Amino acid sequence: MVIGRLFDGLRRMRDERTLRRRPIPDDLWAVTLARYPFLSRRNADDLAALRDLTTLFLADKEFHGTQGLAITDEIAVAISAQACLPILRLGLHYYDSFAVIVVHPEEVVVTRQVMDDDGVVHEYEESIVGEAPGPGPMMLTWHDIAHAGEWAGVAYNVVIHEFAHVIDMAEGYEPDGIPPLPDRAARDAWAQVIDAEYERFCDDVDAGIDTLVDPYGSEGVDEFFGVTVEAFFVASDEFRGEHPALYELYANYFQQTP
Ligand SMILES: [Zn+2]
Repeated sequence: MVIGRLFDGLRRMRDERTLRRRPIPDDLWAVTLARYPFLSRRNADDLAALRDLTTLFLADKEFHGTQGLAITDEIAVAISAQACLPILRLGLHYYDSFAVIVVHPEEVVVTRQVMDDDGVVHEYEESIVGEAPGPGPMMLTWHDIAHAGEWAGVAYNVVIHEFAHVIDMAEGYEPDGIPPLPDRAARDAWAQVIDAEYERFCDDVDAGIDTLVDPYGSEGVDEFFGVTVEAFFVASDEFRGEHPALYELYANYFQQTP
């Protein structure tokens, strides 16, 4: 208890020093907000909190570019600001499980392995634009991040998607569409809402109905959580119309109404 309080106190002191010494320059912050209307439409309190949290995130994480992509301040702040949006009221500790973010210029092809029922391993190739950190680092592609302002209209956001997976896994389990919650009853209540919404969504996708939320969400409830958290933050009005129960659940959990 005393150690915990001491640790919290030290972290707070370190954070205050970071905010004093390494604030995000005004012009760079203005460029970031102009690029992403789903950020700039937030109220002054939210934006001030987001700028501070983004500053702390930048001090905490390491960015690496690949294939000749140089990580500029503009790229680092664009990623960090979007990553911090879901945890604006929850805190940076949700992202303590990893330190490195690798940024590719374009989507990348990765080789996957699956084992069939007979124990035979099959390899296949998959193009990806992002991957939440598992054994490896967080992976993102700049092309999709650069376009995230325009693509918010179709509820698409790769940064928020991958960081939603990190939040989902923050309690130390495999992703299951249930973020950290205080107790078993809260987990059961969450599962009841998201499972019902997921089933309804899969039915819509199977029936060929045009959904706001990316049909990729029908791959599993963990992906459904990822795509619906994207939609909640970047296309909130439309999302509320399509999934009012989930909107309510997320507004309470993230303590925000985007
Ligand atoms: Zn995903």
